[in-house]
Amino acid sequence: MSVSGACRILLQLPPRSPDVLHFEHHTKMKKPATTAIRLLLSCLACLTPLSTRAFAAPPASPAGLPANRYTLVRCGTLLAVPGQPAKTTQTVVIKNGTIESIRDGFDGPDVSAEKVAPIVEEVDLRDRFVLPGLIDCHVHLTMEFDSTLRMRDMTESDAYVALHAAAYARKDLEAGFTTVRDLGSGRATVILGLRDAIRDGYVVGPRVVAAGHAISITGGHGDGTIGLRQELVGPQTPELGIADGPDECMKAVRYQIKLGADWIKVTATGGVLSAAKAGLAQQEFDEELVAIVKTAHSLQRKVAAHAHGTDGINAAIKAGVDSIEHGTYLDDSSIELFKGRNCFHVPTLLAIATVVTNAERPGFYLPQVAEKARMVGPMAMEMFRKSHEAGVKIAFGTDTGVSPHGENAREFALMVKGGMTPTEAIHAATVVAAELLGLENEIGTIEAGKAGDLIAVNGDPTKDVTELERVSCVIKGGNRIVLATPN
Ligand SMILES: [Zn+2]
Repeated sequence: MSVSGACRILLQLPPRSPDVLHFEHHTKMKKPATTAIRLLLSCLACLTPLSTRAFAAPPASPAGLPANRYTLVRCGTLLAVPGQPAKTTQTVVIKNGTIESIRDGFDGPDVSAEKVAPIVEEVDLRDRFVLPGLIDCHVHLTMEFDSTLRMRDMTESDAYVALHAAAYARKDLEAGFTTVRDLGSGRATVILGLRDAIRDGYVVGPRVVAAGHAISITGGHGDGTIGLRQELVGPQTPELGIADGPDECMKAVRYQIKLGADWIKVTATGGVLSAAKAGLAQQEFDEELVAIVKTAHSLQRKVAAHAHGTDGINAAIKAGVDSIEHGTYLDDSSIELFKGRNCFHVPTLLAIATVVTNAERPGFYLPQVAEKARMVGPMAMEMFRKSHEAGVKIAFGTDTGVSPHGENAREFALMVKGGMTPTEAIHAATVVAAELLGLENEIGTIEAGKAGDLIAVNGDPTKDVTELERVSCVIKGGNRIVLATPN
């Protein structure tokens, strides 16, 4: 059965709630009779409210042993390691969510002959181009920015935001992003809870690496209460990421880690979307940046610094941050620091393009925000070109949430416009992004021992990178995700 055939069958099924849409069980089966019964049992388990985690643990075999679960992905073209040549006619064998092997051709030993009877699903991508699941190193899953956000922040409960964020997470996953780094939320427990709920299988979404609250100075880019009546919003404290002076910065970092943050985000300079009329220059003092980085690193957390102005970019790299987000006004001295300190650059061209467009929509942004958007717009491509040509390590990141969720792949075309080849842009969203996240042994390439995270597109994205805006198959941890809008 072709992929489109499988999709057609899915479209004929009665609507189901999103949590049971986790797997596409309707791909071609190795052993139709026995496998169909097992899948039916596992489907029924998914429909039982108390068994929402059923898919995390395969059903037991008759002997009481957990059955192995194999996914065989038949790939017409496979770009297993971006940067290396693609191969044709390959089979990726995924066992219990982890890639077991990659074989030439579509035939080979029948895995169902194993001692413990396995469940086998076959995904037919013989007419597709398959590559590793994409990684977006800069998203905000708990929001999508528009002119109503400031008021919604006042009225929406954490529970509502969490459910909304789950829908955004699914959109990003369906767009081919099997891993995202969430760089700051006004609701730290919501994003950290969502991360864990996805990990544990309650919610369908990408693997999330999350920073909790961003660390900001009082009234700085990360202070969401600028311009609001302070007696209504309450004190902004280090626990909420608002910190002044090295001691409070240390506390703010330690508190995010106590909540469960994987990364620390600091807003080193002013930013476009905050209500501050304070420009885009350095906001955190050098000693505050040093305190943040030292504290985070002492607790084995890396630090991402939001930075536009040259002074803030350079101060953050000197303090030892692991990535610079945006980097709008980077200059030659910044480039030298990036390379000398092995700091990654996450340019977020899509965010800049989005704010430039929205700045011209009457009333969409506060006047001071629109003014800052017009300032950064003309800098973006030049910044990107300079960084790329100098050989700075560029990791893919979009700041999605500034732009709508699910459109993350639009960043690729902007990167190519800025001078990358399509292959370099794909490399930035896989191999380089995995390295930045410290997950290079788990994700970023299709190799034995790594997570079974694969996507497929219809055409060759190394020729036309916009193919990645139309992902037609997403497999995460060996599980095929049903796409709301099949391509
Ligand atoms: Zn951001």
